Amino acid sequence: MIVTRFAPSPNGPLHLGHAYAAVVAHDLAYERGGAFRLRIEDIDGARSRPEFVEEFFQDLEWLGLSWDGEAAFQSHRLARYAGAGERLKAMGLLYPCRCTRAEIAAAATEIGPDGPIYPGTCRHRAVAPEGAAWRLDVTAAMNRTGPLEWLDEGAGPQAATPQIFGDVVLLRKDLPASYHLAATLDDAADGITLVTRGMDLFRSSHVHRLLQALLDLPVPVWHHHGLLVEPDGRKLAKRRGSPSLADRRRAGEGGLAIADALRAQRFPAGISLSQALNGTP
Ligand code: GLU
Repeated sequence: MIVTRFAPSPNGPLHLGHAYAAVVAHDLAYERGGAFRLRIEDIDGARSRPEFVEEFFQDLEWLGLSWDGEAAFQSHRLARYAGAGERLKAMGLLYPCRCTRAEIAAAATEIGPDGPIYPGTCRHRAVAPEGAAWRLDVTAAMNRTGPLEWLDEGAGPQAATPQIFGDVVLLRKDLPASYHLAATLDDAADGITLVTRGMDLFRSSHVHRLLQALLDLPVPVWHHHGLLVEPDGRKLAKRRGSPSLADRRRAGEGGLAIADALRAQRFPAGISLSQALNGTP
């Protein structure tokens, strides 16, 4: 059975771009007789706010998108993330690092999808200093797994190239896990067979595919959908003045009509769908 998900982070309100993501994930599941799950990515305790979660539930209901089962919360799964971190440490694939952003920017010679690529300064560090983050030695990890492939429904088969990110942080010094580790473990735990998310995260799937191989997790198919963009081509976001779904709901707009308009790819004036944000795929 196909299982999709919508995985918002409660560090701000949902906007039209999120509604589009939720409609796509919901409809892909329902068209194929599957299940649609909701996961609240509230791992970042400092930025997550419970009041947004309440709004998310109301927004989805207003859009007519009901999810199967209980919503999952990352904040309830910290032990699982720590356990996977210990497993990767025991495999000798993680190393501690306390480099600051400024140090990395100064030493980096390449720019990756998330900014300067970590130059490997601490790669051979044996002892973990207080307050270190833990990075994945991506080259050692790929040597262990051998070549990997993954499948995006739209873009087709992809050779996994997690090296484009350099040695990513998996256990953050301030948080129990990074997005990459938490999302990969959660998609497996939630039985997600079709990972539905925006094109801006297309390249993250290279890292997730590697983590699946290292941690013996099932391998889903991916569906990276287009992103709603502003007239200047930038991703739609509340901070640029697009009204949130909660604003629209309170203003008396009809959620079902908005969901149907998004399905038909009818967007408010000035907003369009980009299939290739940041040059991917
Ligand atoms: N929590 C992420 C976001 O709100 C989505 C992550 C994912 O779908 O993998 O952008």
